[in-house]
Amino acid sequence: MADLTSLTLKAALDGLNSKSFSAEELARAYVSAIETANPHLNAYVLETPDKAIAMARASDARRARGEAGPLEGASLGIKDLFCTDGVQSTAGSNILKGFKPPYESTVTANLWRDGAVMLGKLNMDEFAMGSSNETSAFGPVSNPWKASGSNQALTPGGSSGGSAAAVAADLCLAATASDTGGSIRQPAAFTGTVGIKPTYGRCSRYGIIAFASSLDQAGPIGKTVEDAALMLSSMAGHDPKDSTSLDVETPDFSAFVGRSVKGLRIGVPDEYRLDGMPAEIAALWDQGVEWLKAAGCEIKRVSLPHTKYALPAYYIIAPAEASSNLSRYDGMRYGLRVEGGTLQDTYERTRAEGFGAEVKRRVLIGAYVLSAGYYDAYYLKAQRVRRRIAEDFDTAFAEVDALLTPTAPSAAFALGDRVSDPVAMYLNDVFTVTTNLAGLPGLSLPAGLDARGLPLGLQLIGRALDEGTLFSLAGVMEQAAAFRAKPQKWW
Ligand code: GLN
Repeated sequence: MADLTSLTLKAALDGLNSKSFSAEELARAYVSAIETANPHLNAYVLETPDKAIAMARASDARRARGEAGPLEGASLGIKDLFCTDGVQSTAGSNILKGFKPPYESTVTANLWRDGAVMLGKLNMDEFAMGSSNETSAFGPVSNPWKASGSNQALTPGGSSGGSAAAVAADLCLAATASDTGGSIRQPAAFTGTVGIKPTYGRCSRYGIIAFASSLDQAGPIGKTVEDAALMLSSMAGHDPKDSTSLDVETPDFSAFVGRSVKGLRIGVPDEYRLDGMPAEIAALWDQGVEWLKAAGCEIKRVSLPHTKYALPAYYIIAPAEASSNLSRYDGMRYGLRVEGGTLQDTYERTRAEGFGAEVKRRVLIGAYVLSAGYYDAYYLKAQRVRRRIAEDFDTAFAEVDALLTPTAPSAAFALGDRVSDPVAMYLNDVFTVTTNLAGLPGLSLPAGLDARGLPLGLQLIGRALDEGTLFSLAGVMEQAAAFRAKPQKWW
């Protein structure tokens, strides 16, 4: 039998349906692939092989009874900020090491309801704060891709670096991820995979360890556009346990893949053409425009004039919300506790030891911008900017049906390259934070390789709740790009 781990999610589901192999065989193939690769890639922070085999057997039994769900028997990886009942969930932080939630996140519960199997928990930046996976308390993930002729370890991006690396290295069929400012799309771009951040409210945040609640949104990373669509249809859905969850129907997103996009109007925003952006990224963007033109789309230049304020606004709002969300980690109820002489002392020691440097930086920035003297100048101002950015998109979407931009301003960079310069790290998110601020869906797909043989991504941004159009456009671009490159197995 061909290597089961190289299958797409769709092909694996077809194979399971036609009884070419069982869910247990599939899970075993992944368990052994992970065993070999993980010491080198560090994509999984927790492997759950026994659980995977047990879930796969139960899945095979359900299928035998004629009760197969839409993802029946699919072996998946789960980002470590989704709470999984009885299974350690840390969000990449020392402060939560050993924490086994007594409940399941809604997104993962939806996947298990549909028959999926869990292989383990995936590495990530601590509390999803980062763009390179280097803030993880478990150490960085290595990108399965390397530049041609080089042995240098590259970042898979962040914060969902474990998810993206695991999908790219065939260590799961697809993975869950989350995106507060780009954490699904940038790692997808750095690893040649497909990722979508859906509309804010599409996926329930219940049981997802919070970073910045008004921006956080779950979504999938997969090998193909269709795989991402299949995953999202299972993950999404209204949930009364999250007051910001949208009470709308979840479409069968895979039905949009393969549809004609003739006559759709695509906006190309002027402000995303940055000075100093690598020429290859600009060229690939132009190529993307050509692919959509050839498919019958009408291309328009549009302006999103407040784009340049998005990054500063994001790096005020996200830390402000984080400083509030992270106040719960006080050593009293769960996670790490470092005893001090007094209550205050216990709080301080626990947080000083439990949080890493980037998380402390965000908590300090957040507390500062929310403090009495600075609230108006920073936090309120940033909220006003956020509104302007959303209005920019509203204006653009009166004229166009979707926008096309690069996903990130560079290809994967070397581990260690930007850790000492937080601002250089934050600049990675320049094309992705805008959709989080506006609550809009954004999809990244692999569009080509740069001269060093590293994947580059393009981003499609859509109207609220119009993920379907993004899947149709991405399907057409995926065909045109014919991106088949895989990283060479060095692990
Ligand atoms: N890189 C961004 C940050 O560090 C976004 C992270 C995310 O989307 N979770 O905040």
